[in-house]
Formats: sequence, C-alpha cells, structure tokens
Amino acid sequence: MNKPSIYGLTLDQLTEWLLEHGHKKFRASQVWDWLYRKRVTQFSEMNNVNKECIDVLEENFSIQTLTEHVRQESKDGTIKFLFRLQDGNLIETVLMRHKYGLSVCVTTQVGCNIGCSFCASGLLTKNRDLTSGEIVEQIMNVQLHLDTKGQDERVSHIVVMGIGEPFDNFQNTVDFLEVVKDHKGLAIGARHITVSTSGLANKIYEFADLKLQVNLAVSLHAPNNELRTKIMKINKAFPIEKLMDSIDYYLEKTNRRVTYEYILIRDVNDHKAEAMQLAELIGDKRHLSYVNLIPYNPVDEHGDYQRSTPEAISEFFDTLKKKGINCGVRLEQGADIDAACGQLRSKQEKKKEKVK
Ligand code: SF4
Repeated sequence: MNKPSIYGLTLDQLTEWLLEHGHKKFRASQVWDWLYRKRVTQFSEMNNVNKECIDVLEENFSIQTLTEHVRQESKDGTIKFLFRLQDGNLIETVLMRHKYGLSVCVTTQVGCNIGCSFCASGLLTKNRDLTSGEIVEQIMNVQLHLDTKGQDERVSHIVVMGIGEPFDNFQNTVDFLEVVKDHKGLAIGARHITVSTSGLANKIYEFADLKLQVNLAVSLHAPNNELRTKIMKINKAFPIEKLMDSIDYYLEKTNRRVTYEYILIRDVNDHKAEAMQLAELIGDKRHLSYVNLIPYNPVDEHGDYQRSTPEAISEFFDTLKKKGINCGVRLEQGADIDAACGQLRSKQEKKKEKVK
C-alpha cells in the first residue's frame, strides 16, 4: 500500500503524531530539521533520531512520493517539471527565475473542474485533489534539484497558480501554506506566497478569516458577467457582484492588496470598453488593487483564441493607468518550452493515450 508523504504534516501535527506513538516532543523538531533544513531523502539518514522512531516513521510515511517524469529547461532559466504521483497521475510544477528571487508555481489538483475556456488544464477534468504532502513535495523536489547544483540557491517565492483550483482543495492548501511558512523549516515568508483563485467567493471569506498574511490573486479575465460567464463557467456560480463582495470582505479583514489576473485574448476581452469597465469595477478599491495583464499564450487545444496585438495590450494598459489603476503586463517566461499552464501535462497525457 502507498504510504502518505511525511511532508503533509505541519510541525504541530508531526509533534502530536509522534507523541501518540510514544515518542518525545523534541523528536518532531529533529525530524523537521532533517526534512527541511538538511533535506535528507531517507529516514535512515536522520542520525540523531533513535531507531524506534525511524522505524515507526518508515512504517507509516514516505519521504519521496513524487518522481520526476520529464524536465524541460528554458533558455531564460525557467524549468518545468512533470512529476509522477504514486498512483501514476502526472502533475506540473514550474521554477521561474526573477530579479527578486526564485519562484515556484505549484499544482493543487490532478486536472481541474473549473473549465476556463482558455486553459489547457480545464480540458482534463479533475481526477483528484492533491494531498498537502504532494503539494509540499513539489517545492521540496525543486529545492533538491537546486541543491544538486551546489550554488546555494533557495526557493524564495511560491505561487499557487498551477493546475487546479486551490480553494476547491481548501484544507490541503491551507496545511501546505502552514508547512512552507514555518520558520523552523523552509521559512518562506507569507508575503512571498500568492494563492490564486478563479473566484470561489465563499472560500475567499474563509481565507480572509484565517489571516495567513499570504497574498491573494483573483482570476478575473472579464469585467462583466456576460463575458466572464462565456470564458469562465465558474461565473455562473459566483457572479461578479458576489465575487466583489467577498473581495471587499477580504480587504476589510486583511488590509492586503489583491491582484486581479486578466488574460488578454484578441478581440474577446481586450477592447478599450472592457478596460474602462474594469477600472469602474475596481473603482474605490484601487488603492488596494493591482491588475496583472497577461497576454494570452496560445495553445493547440484552443485554436480559436489568439494573443492580443501589442497595440491592444498598450491601449488596455494605458486606459487603466489613466483611470488610476495600478497595473502591469506580465513578461513571458519559458517561451521556448511548453510554458502555458497545463500544456506539458496535456501533451504527455495525449502521448499516453496514443500508446494505449
Ligand atoms: S485556469 Fe486554473 S481554474 Fe481555470 S481551468 Fe485552468 S487550472 Fe482550472
């Protein structure tokens, strides 16, 4: 039987688990240190932990439940990993190099049920949620890859923006955040972590109440219900008014800036009129808002969608700016590899189907 990943436990949960199994509290800190600071890949390497404790951990947990299936490296330093899970499913994780540090984009579900019309992952419906351990392990595997280079590089930022809707796998995402933030472990600052949702308004309230200090990004992609429902089915369940109400609550509770993701698709949502509507929508929240404009990355799976022209991108950006909205255009990374979210996995799944 497959054993769960040890990385799924927060330090408190590990402490409690060891106490329940007859071990002293301090063992948890020792094990934690071996996992996240010394980054061993075998329990037997934890040489200040007694044998009984090692044995019980080995019996019940695994340190490596992910195996690397494919790795693509871009000229700009972006690395896309395709990991195989214990049940054979494949997931994507991306390492990106920025001026401010190294950021990893993690996946939270195998496939996704949100069904955004522009997304390669949305075509592969959700198979299952990832466990918190499988989400943490993505970070660990990327960190271990960096460790092998011997350049003392550390993952400094995390974006929960890979395949899946993190708020549809809420508790595992929250446990994952607790683990990676823990100052005795990876100690990745909450302000260096961003969780991106397609707009599950009910969960935005819950997330606000947790006061995790983590950044929130909302995939908006359209400024009115008619257009948003066309490109994002989720808008039927959580129309823009409900979404904006939940964001108001989040801002009130946290006083933290929200980022709005807006993919620019040629002649679909990139007209000046939509930029004006977007500015109107954000209106009185502009001091705590940032709009991230993302020129669409065409994928074979959605041949009818094209990237906006440079002129349309400039006009959209200028219109927002003139209305006093903080915004930027996201620079493309990994253009020479399967950079669009879900693209690598989707290609590999197709290969598997051909082989069957
Ligand atoms: S964009 Fe995100 S939420 Fe939408 S289908 Fe793709 S993975 Fe799911």
